[in-house]
Amino acid sequence: MEYDFSELAEVIRINSYTKNVEGVNRVGELFREKLEELGYDCEKIRSEIYGDHLYFHAPSTREGKGRILLLGHLDTVFPPGTFEEFREDGEWIYGPGVCDMKGGIMVMVEALRTLPEIANIDILLVSDEEIGSDDSRVHTRRIAGEYDYTLVFEAAGPHGEVVTGRKGIGTFYIDIDGRAAHAGNNYRDGIDANAELAHKLLSLVNLTDVEEGTTVNVGKIEGGIGANTISPHAHMVFEARFTKASERDRVLQSINQIVNTPFIPGTKATLRGGLQRDVMEENRAQREFLKLLEEWSGKTIPTERRGGGSDANIAASAGSTTLDGFGPYGDGDHTIHERASKRSYMDRIELVSSIFRGFLAHQPSGRSTSS
Ligand SMILES: [Zn+2]
Repeated sequence: MEYDFSELAEVIRINSYTKNVEGVNRVGELFREKLEELGYDCEKIRSEIYGDHLYFHAPSTREGKGRILLLGHLDTVFPPGTFEEFREDGEWIYGPGVCDMKGGIMVMVEALRTLPEIANIDILLVSDEEIGSDDSRVHTRRIAGEYDYTLVFEAAGPHGEVVTGRKGIGTFYIDIDGRAAHAGNNYRDGIDANAELAHKLLSLVNLTDVEEGTTVNVGKIEGGIGANTISPHAHMVFEARFTKASERDRVLQSINQIVNTPFIPGTKATLRGGLQRDVMEENRAQREFLKLLEEWSGKTIPTERRGGGSDANIAASAGSTTLDGFGPYGDGDHTIHERASKRSYMDRIELVSSIFRGFLAHQPSGRSTSS
């Protein structure tokens, strides 16, 4: 069968770089129209800086049934003029967002269109995921926390894997103040901020434990004035990633300790930044949910864990049983070679719609029932 991608193409051709507020809102409007046609009610959550986040309420509610949240993002990483085409060949569709994740949102819409009735399936589309969801995080956390289940529509794995675990990520900045002095005449008067940075840098990267899935990377350093001056100031930018909550706690504690312990007497360090996305750990509720999805869809659903974060991390840390990767499989995301597999796009629509139909037909187990 031949699927018509023109509806997706229209959305892909609108630039929705996170900072292009107008473009992001235009994409949001197009999806709003599609979802309102299905009976959804749209609640706009305004952002001071970015495009609107859109929260859609299902046309009907059934009591005593679980609730599902579908989570997606409207923005892409491409500034205007860098990558704005849509094209296709026999196997692939190409364009900004075909898999990350306008294609995923389209899968969501197409699957919903196959349902005779929609109940208890709400949707949240945020506008700032690609820059770390700093604005939407508080809303996603609050909203996802009210749902039994959250399905996130980032790209699938190469064999249709859904994502069961994602690393947590924190980004941090350390400023170190010392005291300038002539390196020849007044060496003893100086307090060397660069030397302090070097000590702290090594302590930080030593927190890395690859076996445990924990990495700390000091990606940028700056400091000092010139060769003959003791450096009065130094600055570093680093990130930490972890796959376990216990590792998150260890790393965060150690970072504080490293910041607060001067190696060079007289230096002062300040820390900014923090957790961007909490770790999404695999858990039992998730495994049980996955079993239900397999039952409803009659398919084996492979799983994988990923190093990168997504809004799935936020939903999971809000206590909602969360699975990610319901969009189509693709590659080259975040580059101008982004593409998505047509086959996988069709497979995803079928899988997701069978999950929705199963969800509406059955009482999810593990929920309290009176019968
Ligand atoms: Zn994405």
